[in-house]
Amino acid sequence: AALREGYERFDPRAYLRNNYLPPRADFSSEEFVVPWKLRCLAETFASGEQWPGKPPAALQRAPTIYQLLSACDHFEEIVATDYLAVNREELGRWARGEPGTFDWSPFIRHVCKIEGRGEPWQEKERRLRGRLRRILPIDVHRPDPLGAPLCPPADALLSAFCLEAVSPDRDAFARALAHVGSLLRPGGHALLLGALGESFYLA
Ligand code: SAH
Repeated sequence: AALREGYERFDPRAYLRNNYLPPRADFSSEEFVVPWKLRCLAETFASGEQWPGKPPAALQRAPTIYQLLSACDHFEEIVATDYLAVNREELGRWARGEPGTFDWSPFIRHVCKIEGRGEPWQEKERRLRGRLRRILPIDVHRPDPLGAPLCPPADALLSAFCLEAVSPDRDAFARALAHVGSLLRPGGHALLLGALGESFYLA
């Protein structure tokens, strides 16, 4: 209940400013979390896995899109989800290319650079926007997190800095993982990106 109440005050603009603009958005060294995350994702999606090219569910995303930049080359559709309407709206505005939304271009440029295919960043941006067609509400603490089965079930599931952030303890984390796992087809892939063992968090 306390976690839920805390998230009711979540401000997507403040979250983006705090985590995805300088000084935190520092691309100069992989000591910093932003380029580290982008490289993990780029390497994972380039790892030679036969990604099946069907919808993955990219879950619990807050208003961020960086975690989809390497994924979007491998899947025809990306189903994005978040618990909060404010986050889903922010993401929808970005996907529709509305003016005044967060500028992800430094992230998109960086990913194009590390992927090394010489792709113009605007092309990746266009591809991701085109593949982001459904933005759905989710609650990972419910056995049926989307309130209805995902049709067809997802080939891959990507969760970035969510399950551990919204779970009060390890048992709740394990249950949340099982709940979102139910959205995957048998044999599908789950990718979890997150932070463990932190002693404090600056906001
Ligand atoms: N993916 C973002 C960070 C997420 S912050 C990033 O990488 O920066 C945590 C996210 O969890 C927020 O978007 C919040 O809306 C979402 N969240 C909070 N409670 C949730 C719940 N019960 N189920 C699913 N998502 C939840």
